[in-house]
Amino acid sequence: MFFDLEWNQGYPRSEAEKIDEIIQIGAYRLTDWQDSGTPFSAYVRPSIHKKLHHQVKKMVPLDQAKLKRAGNFRQVSAEFFRWCGKDAVYFTWGTCDARVLDTNLCWYGIEEYLDIEIYDLQRAFDLLVLHTCSQTALETAVNALGLESRLEYHDACNDAAYTARIGAELVRRFGRLPDQKELDRIEQELRTKLRQEAAQAAGETLQILYAEETPALKRKCSHFDTADDCLKSRSARVYHCPECDNWLCGGNWYKIGDTYVSRSRCAEHGRYYAFLTFQPERGNKLQGLLQVYAEEQLPPDLFQQCRQGGEKIEVCQMPRKRRRMRRRKAALKKGTS
Ligand SMILES: [Zn+2]
Repeated sequence: MFFDLEWNQGYPRSEAEKIDEIIQIGAYRLTDWQDSGTPFSAYVRPSIHKKLHHQVKKMVPLDQAKLKRAGNFRQVSAEFFRWCGKDAVYFTWGTCDARVLDTNLCWYGIEEYLDIEIYDLQRAFDLLVLHTCSQTALETAVNALGLESRLEYHDACNDAAYTARIGAELVRRFGRLPDQKELDRIEQELRTKLRQEAAQAAGETLQILYAEETPALKRKCSHFDTADDCLKSRSARVYHCPECDNWLCGGNWYKIGDTYVSRSRCAEHGRYYAFLTFQPERGNKLQGLLQVYAEEQLPPDLFQQCRQGGEKIEVCQMPRKRRRMRRRKAALKKGTS
């Protein structure tokens, strides 16, 4: 059973108004993977948001009059689940439809369908076909698999039919669909591989940076017992903007090889990137070398690669001092202008 929902949203001024209200349930039933399938489509008369949100109107090809003549959610959902039958296995594209279905069922206090298992076919497609975790759009997936696409998208019934075709195609290609545990394992392996690739790329790009650019700021951070102490210290995290008097404060560190990387921002001069390495010092201590580069010196993907591939070392925020300093600056500015 493949289903797809279209929903409407309000212009939220209260909690209730934030609910995504289902306005169409579309489904496609396959009795087996070779089946040509049976469609189901029903509109739902809205009771929470009576008017269609302007963005929904743009996306979804349906008119308001049709909705007004439709049954309410209780009637339509009962009809839908009856049509699905007792032993149905449910599939959707992505996790949104399951979430919205649950919200609507909860809103109307219809509890018996809250624990149905729903298979996310998008995740299977991403992992098996594209080897990503990128939440591919339905249309993109249909095209990537070379499936026929004559139906209009964003109609719940058509989207469900597309999802069913994708399901059948995945089974044709891979023999069967992996279960949740297998998907978890595949995703874990993929993430590890992507992390390793990013780490390697970051390490290589880092060498190019060191070889080709002179840091805008360079300083030693001395006498630390451990690298961790230094990473959390003000001497490694707080420095002057190389262009002006503003104090900058680096965020979390990402460890690539022997280098720790963090990012900061000057309100006037943009982003700066700090690179910290260590060498041993007399008395069993460590000395850090901090090198700061401006955004325009940095190879475009370097920080992203560090974030993806590096081990993250979280630091606590230092907001208070910063805010006070900003305020003082603002006051100073006011005074001089
Ligand atoms: Zn600055």
